[in-house]
Formats: sequence, structure tokens, C-alpha cells
Amino acid sequence: MTAQLIDGKAISKRLRVGFRTRVEKLIEQGVSPGLAVIIVGDNSASRVYVGNKIKACEECGVVSFHHAFPAETSEADILADIRNLNSDHKVHGILVQLPLPSHIDVRRILEAISVDKDVDGFHLYNVGGLVVGNTIFPPCTPYGVQLLLETTGIDVAGQNVVVVGASNIVGKPMALMLLQKEATVTVCHAKTRNLAQHTIIADILIVAAGKPGLIVPQMVKEGAIVIDVGINRLPDGRIVGDVDFEGVKEKASWITPVPGGVGPMTVTMLIENTLRSAERALHLRKENDYQDWEAPQLKTE
Ligand code: NAD
Repeated sequence: MTAQLIDGKAISKRLRVGFRTRVEKLIEQGVSPGLAVIIVGDNSASRVYVGNKIKACEECGVVSFHHAFPAETSEADILADIRNLNSDHKVHGILVQLPLPSHIDVRRILEAISVDKDVDGFHLYNVGGLVVGNTIFPPCTPYGVQLLLETTGIDVAGQNVVVVGASNIVGKPMALMLLQKEATVTVCHAKTRNLAQHTIIADILIVAAGKPGLIVPQMVKEGAIVIDVGINRLPDGRIVGDVDFEGVKEKASWITPVPGGVGPMTVTMLIENTLRSAERALHLRKENDYQDWEAPQLKTE
């Protein structure tokens, strides 16, 4: 079997066309959606990620506010900036690019972001919402993966899903979102013994470990759907995922490429969450509370 490709780049492009219409509707009603991006220090990968996010804002008509601080900036100064952004009506989403320099407490920074502007979905309130199934802003990468899975037409309910990687930003929220959709979820991590024994039973295998070549064909069930979240730069400069793409595509039914799979979706879901926040703010202005506000159902077709 040769797998069909799940083309995250093309799906993102389609979603972004729909976003432009939503932005126009918001502007007609006096709301111009805005995203603030805070970056501290000079990490070159972070600069590329922030650049991509700002470019995506431009493409969709979202206003971006780029707050770049030198590496030695104090935690208090970053917190003060976040407090200002929390009360700025032009800003609907606040994102702090991770990692932060080691003298800054990441948890304290993420908790300072207003729950209503937490478009990365990392605030404890949104994380807790994942457990009970009503988070306001789903974290961008797992949310993107969920939409990619929908494009295969497969209902995840009852499927054996194996998530390799248990980080707070990808693996754990991914597992919770799929559990909410009634999948049978196994989470593996660096301490898991005999990884292959778990991955081989997966109808849907989602890999987010940051280890190139971790998943080889012998670890994959014939016909499985394979989603590769990993982004690794090899010494020769090539970007690869965690999955041996060439080998595994001969066994899987569907597979995401790297690059061009999950990566573009992550940025797209950030814009989606920013629009969601702006629409929610408009609802609040009209109705005086958040009651009856319903999150949009995205269509990937
Ligand atoms: P992380 O380092 O925070 O977590 C990695 C997880 O993988 C941990 O739970 C660890 O226990 C597990 N792990 C490591 N080695 C393993 C092994 N040999 N077997 C099983 N599990 C193992 O990383 P993260 O932030 O979750 O990111 C993971 C990967 O996904 C990285 O390559 C990162 O660049 C990529 N990523 C991509 C996107 C995207 O948009 N495509 C977004 C976020 C992260």
C-alpha cells in the first residue's frame, strides 16, 4: 500500500481563504482582529516561527503587534507588557514565543495572559477545559492535527490512537482532545518500554518526540494513519520529521509530510483562535456576556 498524502499546506490555504471572509465580517461590525506576539531574546528558530506567524496575519487581514525584547529583559517587564496587552481592545490574542530565557518563569508568564486572549491555549483554564471538553482555545498544534485527521474522512471514535510524545504543548493535549472524541488513546514517552509494541496496534499514530527516524516501517500497522508532528534539522540542513517517511508511506493509508504537513496547520490554527477571540469579544459587546457564544465549526473542504 502507498499512503495518500495529507497535504497540510493545501488544507491551510483553503482555511485561510475562509478566514478572510470572517475578518471582513468582523471589520464591518467595527472589530479589527489583532494578534500580539512577544519574543524575548535572539533564538533563530523562534525568529523564523514569529516571522511565519506575522506573515500569516498579513495574509488573512489580521493586525499583528510585534513586541521584541532583548534576552536580558526582566520577568517583571514582560509581565507588565502582558498586562497592558490584556486591557488593549485592539488585541484579541496574545502569544509568547517559547522558549524563554532561563531567568524567566514560563508558567508565571503564561498564567498572566488573559484567559480571553490565550490563543495558544496554554493557560491553566484552557488546559483544564481540555479535560472536561469545553476549552475556549484549543492548543494550535493538536487542533491542527485534529482537522488533518478529519480530512481523511475517518471517525476517530473507537479507533486505537497512539500518541508518541507527552509534552504539555503537543502530546498531552492531543491525547485529551482525541479521548474527548471517544478514541482509545495510548500515550508513549521517553520512558516507555518497547515503543514498537504500542505503535504497532495504532489505527492512528501521532508522533511528536523530536527524534528523527524514531518510527520505522516495522513499528507501523498496515493501513494506519500516520501524523508526523516532529520538526528536526539534520546536520546537512534538511528538515525532517520523526517518521521514516519513505519507508512508512509504503505501509500507511494516509501520512503527513514534513515539511508541509502539521507545521502550516499550527500557524493557521493560531489565526483561527485569534478570529475566534475577536468574534467572541464582539458577541460579548452585543450580548453583554459570553452565554450562548458558540465556537465556529471549521470546514476543511
Ligand atoms: P518536547 O521535547 O517538549 O517533548 C518530547 C516528548 O517526546 C516527551 O514527552 C518525551 O518523553 C518524548 N520522547 C522523546 N524521545 C522519545 C523516544 N525515543 N520515544 C518515545 N518518546 C520520546 O517536544 P515538543 O515541544 O512536544 O515537540 C516535539 C516535536 O514536535 C519536536 O520535533 C518539535 O519541533 C515538533 N513540534 C512541531 C510543531 C508543528 O507545528 N509541527 C509544533 C510543536 C512542536
